[in-house]
Amino acid sequence: MAGKTIRVTVWGEFRHEKKNEAVRKVYPDGMHKAIQAGLAKNADMSVRTATLDEPENGITDAVLAQTDVLTWWGHTAHGEVQDAVVDKIQKRVLEGMGLIILHSGHFSKIFRRMLGTNCSLKWREVGEKERLWVVEPSHPIAQGLGEYFELPHEEMYGERFDIPTPDKVVFVSWFEGGEVFRSGCCWERGFGRMFYFRPGHETYPTFFDANVQKVLTNAVRWAAPNFYGQHPCPNTKPLETIHSVDPATGKAGVKQ
Ligand code: ZN
Repeated sequence: MAGKTIRVTVWGEFRHEKKNEAVRKVYPDGMHKAIQAGLAKNADMSVRTATLDEPENGITDAVLAQTDVLTWWGHTAHGEVQDAVVDKIQKRVLEGMGLIILHSGHFSKIFRRMLGTNCSLKWREVGEKERLWVVEPSHPIAQGLGEYFELPHEEMYGERFDIPTPDKVVFVSWFEGGEVFRSGCCWERGFGRMFYFRPGHETYPTFFDANVQKVLTNAVRWAAPNFYGQHPCPNTKPLETIHSVDPATGKAGVKQ
């Protein structure tokens, strides 16, 4: 989509912010608004938000039709996302839409649907330091970052992360407590690109971090579709005459 505006929809569950004062202190307008503000700094992106409690979970056909890249943060209410919405998002990714899953979205219906595995992991919430190592410095999502960057306080996610082997692992996290984690993972599904990015626990200002905003900017540009297409399964006529004889019928493959 070079030269075109990338239409981004930032989806937020938007429940912790309503119920938990500690989360509201960090994200008074909601995490989705912070993610939107970070992406909206880019002149090549138009960024809207959608949330769980809106009609159709905020993902109407009209919204989906105007979305090139969908980002997804959910945690406490994965089960409340309608299956029909998950079906629609899956179809759209297979047709070409980019999908970026953030942090606790590892257990979202859409992530598990797209990957087909359990997506379980180890976790610990004590506010320890996370160091994200850039293991693919040539990858588009790693541009503008150093050899590593750090977040002073985050929730720990540790291996084993039950995902199918990614096409690329861009970041590997190390945590102060000793665990490691595949923190930035890329997959292709159908014509669509998917990226999972680990940081983003609701009680830390991770989505205001300049390096995190750089990663999300890069990820949106990487995941933006160059092509949309359906997946028909047509019975098709040959381009050339087929002379081979089917031994079961004694006839050539194609009548002349
Ligand atoms: Zn978390």
